[in-house]
Amino acid sequence: MLPYARQNVAEDDITAVAAVLRSAFLTQGPAIPRFEARVAECCGAKHAVAVSSATAGLHLACLALGLGAGRTLWTSPNTFVASANCARYCGAEVDFVDVEADSGNLCVAALAAKLAAAAAANRLPAVLVPVHFAGLPCAMAEIAALARAHGVAVIEDAAHALGANYRGGPVGDGRFSDCTVLSFHAVKIATTGEGGVVLTNRDDLAAHLRRLRTHGITREPHELTAPPEGPWCYEQVELGFHYRLTDIQAALGWSQLARLPEFLRRRRELAARYDSLLAGLPLALPARRSDRESSWHLYPVQLDLGRCGRSRSEVYTTLRAAGIGVNVHYLPVHLQPYYRRLGFKPGDFPAAEARYAATLTLPLFYGMTEAQQDAVVAALHAALRREESA
Ligand SMILES: *Cc1c(COP(=O)(O)O)cnc(C)c1O
Repeated sequence: MLPYARQNVAEDDITAVAAVLRSAFLTQGPAIPRFEARVAECCGAKHAVAVSSATAGLHLACLALGLGAGRTLWTSPNTFVASANCARYCGAEVDFVDVEADSGNLCVAALAAKLAAAAAANRLPAVLVPVHFAGLPCAMAEIAALARAHGVAVIEDAAHALGANYRGGPVGDGRFSDCTVLSFHAVKIATTGEGGVVLTNRDDLAAHLRRLRTHGITREPHELTAPPEGPWCYEQVELGFHYRLTDIQAALGWSQLARLPEFLRRRRELAARYDSLLAGLPLALPARRSDRESSWHLYPVQLDLGRCGRSRSEVYTTLRAAGIGVNVHYLPVHLQPYYRRLGFKPGDFPAAEARYAATLTLPLFYGMTEAQQDAVVAALHAALRREESA
């Protein structure tokens, strides 16, 4: 089966990891700050804080921004469950804002209307988490302006969007948010196996995130509550977590980031090739915007269900039977059983639900060959032609 995503590990990556395995530190050593410096540079951020996953990063970013019981986080329903779960870890409530039909990104008009209603009812959220779906940045200038006007903190879920850019700057440079969270899971743009990074330009948030990722413990003299009895002393000043990345993982990430321009170039090339090979089929291509460039984590098409005459499920099954590992992004988060138990139901976010019914993610990854891509296109042509004439 041709997978929808696949990591690419080269000899240089293996050499970098092997060097850590031969060194004095497997964790909490020099590979972490080296990786963090490279991520910060790639994304134009002042601080990068490496953590064990993007999920951990979202959790810590929520805590550092003061999310807790009695407060609410809003996010997109068209995302992985982690974008919402981070609020629940903090004891906070979750609500969703519907998406744009074409891009699957947070809809600015829906956000504006929901914020106005929430302001009138005195129920504004504390945190907003826009998700750069498939790697295409959200309309961050408009989203940030609305959030600022209502005093809402913003965490960008950029798990898909390492290397994407928006209005002349990289995603993660902090022009439009308090924090940006990246994922280095194996299916994402670049990998550490499992891993995440929180980017921020705020010194206070960076220091807090560093403390929270290691049990709430600090050795920073200005963070101690009393003069230390000796150089061995540390203080746990709050309840934190064990969310650190290892040096082994950081070395892999550092090496992968050296290859990021090449990863992005190839993904963009394959996406453009899909665009031209799929023209004319009864489907909508992934959205593009003139003021931003996707990192192409995913290549999601929207089937024109009226014109192909079959369900997405039938097209999915036909392609899988042909050895094409298509996927579906995403089952709307509010329809997961856990969120239904919290009161959400079908019909709550119609644009996200309509996208889900028609969407199909085609394989796209750095190491994919043009022959493999041609096989995907041929299988899709066959599946949709048969359905059109049926
Ligand atoms: C992958 C993903 C996450 C979680 O990333 P992990 O590193 O696996 O924790 C969060 N949000 C989105 C949108 C993702 O795709």
